[in-house]
Amino acid sequence: MLNEDIALDMIRSSIVLLLSEKPLHGYGIMKEIEGRIGKPVNPGLLYPFLKHLEKNGLVKSTRKPVGRKPKKVYELTATGKELATRIYKRIASMVSMAIKSDLSVCFHCGCKIYEGGYREAEGDKERIFCCVHCAQAYKNELHSATQSTEKPRRR
Ligand SMILES: [Zn+2]
Repeated sequence: MLNEDIALDMIRSSIVLLLSEKPLHGYGIMKEIEGRIGKPVNPGLLYPFLKHLEKNGLVKSTRKPVGRKPKKVYELTATGKELATRIYKRIASMVSMAIKSDLSVCFHCGCKIYEGGYREAEGDKERIFCCVHCAQAYKNELHSATQSTEKPRRR
């Protein structure tokens, strides 16, 4: 499996990201992943994957005493850390893409509205503002703008 394929797979990505935080043994990885994404990792996926990472120089393992008996503890190598950084970046760009496509922009100040916002109908159009105050400011400006253009005509 190529490093780029790893970045595309959620469970495998999670394992790499988890190891970028701290060295863990296999059971610790399973517990942490299950706690975070609410889905258990199949040991039949985890151990061959760790072996694959180790074979490709992304992870190194050492036997360390965990509780009463020594366990294999896995940690990322420098190359593994580079892969983790690439996975972080990919996830970050995916998240910002998902947020942007769904984001409204305040009609008055242009700020991005992540949640809620204030909607107001104008004629048959509906405009969205970040808040009621911004909507009011927009109406005030609109009002003074129409007044200033109308005034000279009256003279
Ligand atoms: Zn606004």
